[in-house]
Amino acid sequence: VPNAAVRAGIELPSDLLGFITTGRTAWNALAALPRVPAPDGWRLLAPIPRPRRNVFAVGRNYADHAAESGMDDLPDVPIVFSKAVDECGEPDGRIVADPALTTKLDWEAELAVVLGAGGRDIAEADALSHVFGYTVVNDISARDVQEERVGGQWFLGKSLAGACPMGPQLVSADALDPGDLEVSLAVNGVPKQGSSTRQLVFSVSRLIAEISRYVPLLAGDVIATGTPSGVGGARRPPEFVGPGDVMEATISGIGTLRTQVIGPDD
Ligand code: MG
Repeated sequence: VPNAAVRAGIELPSDLLGFITTGRTAWNALAALPRVPAPDGWRLLAPIPRPRRNVFAVGRNYADHAAESGMDDLPDVPIVFSKAVDECGEPDGRIVADPALTTKLDWEAELAVVLGAGGRDIAEADALSHVFGYTVVNDISARDVQEERVGGQWFLGKSLAGACPMGPQLVSADALDPGDLEVSLAVNGVPKQGSSTRQLVFSVSRLIAEISRYVPLLAGDVIATGTPSGVGGARRPPEFVGPGDVMEATISGIGTLRTQVIGPDD
């Protein structure tokens, strides 16, 4: 595509985040170009490999996951936290399980929302018009760091290197209903999570409205909307992933995000 753009005399951003932050002009120019198949041997990267800042994440946003996490009542406002990301892992990528940091590495399949237009105090009724598209993230979590160390360090436990793989693609907002998507995750081919965004406690619209009341949102921001039940740490007995395991997070209409766990010396 860049070569076609050069021939057409069009200056295009070099990545998807560039298209989002520069607005419709570059996007329309891209859409007007002939489609070119990816050459053999190219590999997919995360749709937004380096988000503008930390990923917004939402805790306990499915009723069944809130229950398995020990909450008696559903939250009455979204539980929003931050996930530091150096670089979002690519589809078919890897994460290192380092036993010096964690022995409780866990999975969380989630619908991720990428903002196309920022704003503050965005009205819930208008919120979906701020969405550029949707993708899958695996909110990989070190449960021992998140829940046990010094009373629970969510930020650290959620922010290990490679702990936010994203993809395999970003689907534009006009092509999906975020309120009716199947969300599932398998480990080594064995189903562990299976639910639907119909079960979200707070909808995508409500999350955008609530977060933007407090934090002005930016074009390109990423919101991970929470995970359904079936995470490893809530299982009896608990289950975690280690070197050799493969996690596959799938959302209908978007695809499967596959991530292999490797050891520090692999
Ligand atoms: Mg999560």
